[in-house]
Amino acid sequence: MAMLNAAATIEPPQNETTLSYGSGSLERSRISSTLSDFRSREIEIPLIIGGREVRTGRTAACLVPHDHRHRLAVYHTAGPEEAAMAVGAARKASKTWAAMAWADRLAIFLKAADLIAGPHRMRINAATMLGQGKNVYQAEIDAACESADFLRFYCWNAARLFGLQPISSAGVWNQMEYRPLEGFVFAISPFNFTALGVNLTAAPALLGNAVIWKPSSSAVYSSYHLMRIFHEAGLPDGVINFLPGPASQIGPVLLKHPELAGVHFTGSTEVFREIWKTVGTHIEGYRTYPRLVGETGGKDFIFVHPSADAQAVAVAMVRGAFEYQGQKCSAASRAYIPKSMWTSLKDLLLEMIGSIRVGPPEDFSNFVNAVIDRAAFDKIVGYIEFARKAPDAEIVAGGSYDDRIGYFIHPTIIVTEKPDFKTMAEEIFGPVLTVFLYDDDRYEETLQICDQTSPYALTGSIFARERQAIVVAKRILVNAAGNFYINDKPTGAMIGQQPFGGSRASGTNDKAGTLLNLLRWVSPRTIKETFVPATDYRYPFMQPD
Ligand code: NAD
Repeated sequence: MAMLNAAATIEPPQNETTLSYGSGSLERSRISSTLSDFRSREIEIPLIIGGREVRTGRTAACLVPHDHRHRLAVYHTAGPEEAAMAVGAARKASKTWAAMAWADRLAIFLKAADLIAGPHRMRINAATMLGQGKNVYQAEIDAACESADFLRFYCWNAARLFGLQPISSAGVWNQMEYRPLEGFVFAISPFNFTALGVNLTAAPALLGNAVIWKPSSSAVYSSYHLMRIFHEAGLPDGVINFLPGPASQIGPVLLKHPELAGVHFTGSTEVFREIWKTVGTHIEGYRTYPRLVGETGGKDFIFVHPSADAQAVAVAMVRGAFEYQGQKCSAASRAYIPKSMWTSLKDLLLEMIGSIRVGPPEDFSNFVNAVIDRAAFDKIVGYIEFARKAPDAEIVAGGSYDDRIGYFIHPTIIVTEKPDFKTMAEEIFGPVLTVFLYDDDRYEETLQICDQTSPYALTGSIFARERQAIVVAKRILVNAAGNFYINDKPTGAMIGQQPFGGSRASGTNDKAGTLLNLLRWVSPRTIKETFVPATDYRYPFMQPD
């Protein structure tokens, strides 16, 4: 096929506009009918290896967190044999894929973005609402908007990356070729953001890598919808292979494989450390050093100075801690409040929390929905009961839960005067916020405590009206968060605007959606070409006087 003589350019993208789903809106009626359509029929989800649907007969179910007896789908699960098949499919696809002109590759992902934002918007949102228990707004900002944003910003950044070229001197032409990695990339996604399935697979794939994708068992339903959209956009067979199933069966085969070229992971710190250990133990067996990119847990904070606006703090606490039931890596889960502000702030919080409705996302008036599954429910309830019994903590809001129909936990606030109380330090991943009350004159000392209390360093906020208080917080908390907010909640990072990622135990901080992330999936080759090569080995300095 003839190739077009052109240096393709991509316009800087805009973030996808969020629809409101307000009462009487067209999108509200459309999402409602998609929800009832999806609820009314159970689908069967195969593996997709080399473009082929594979049914193993070993199945599991996609359940609805807010109605856990309801099955949306049965899905086939992969084991070691299918994992090995996927490596073969990735190997087979990668030659043609890597050789395809980059503009053609990117066109597929730009098209996928438009399919997600356009004709499949309701489908991907409804799948996320039902399968992962998100209200419509949380699904819209994740599944539709962030997915489209990831694809568009990555494509734009890839074009910028390819444009980064070395200088050349007289008689020489230097070029940098951004080769894909030699081998496959293993993408492992968590349950809590549909868009992360896009991020983890598309970033390596659009640069010419072949990918094997293991979605979370609790997000297979929306992930499968996404996989079908990729194919509809023209993704060639085998470029992304869809491999749901138990990590214990799939992980070892892929992680120890000599052709493993990279792991693109988002999930818990514990699992990422396991992956790193496995790769470390087998380091002599790989063809190339596998790139390890992981964004993991958080213990995100809201730190409040006495000069802050209490109303703004209360809103940030409620939205930051309880949206999507606190199941965001960025969710506010500890707050440092000056004692002088607590009485008034507490009244505001109790009033807001008292008005929050908890229930299924199909009822649009519910702000808080169910947590993802039984294991999450039990773990979160364990923390609540620990706090209830602890002599040095008090539950001032919520603390109740009910798992008869769905895994519902009411927004809960714990107050403690112990800065290293268990729920101040450990990731809970549920609608539980712990407040530490500090003496107003111990601002700097308490900032130091905040910095040192947890191993994580993902997100955090400072609320203050006095500039000097902000200056001090920025300095003391310099390594406490990869995403730092001033007078705003620590959640809701937008692709292209607040590049996301944390350090310390929170991850490798490769900033999803940016050029920094893309750099991890290429292995540049430098090419020097000399137009008129030297014909004599001797240099002029060797000439006789
Ligand atoms: P998880 O760690 O339980 O699972 C993540 C993925 O890893 C799943 O697909 C799972 O099947 C797989 N996995 C589990 N064990 C594995 C192993 N030994 N080898 C290979 N893969 C394995 O996480 P989760 O419950 O799905 O998600 C919640 C966690 O993700 C929280 O800790 C949260 O903070 C984190 N998270 C972080 C970010 C971020 O950007 N920093 C974003 C979202 C979620």
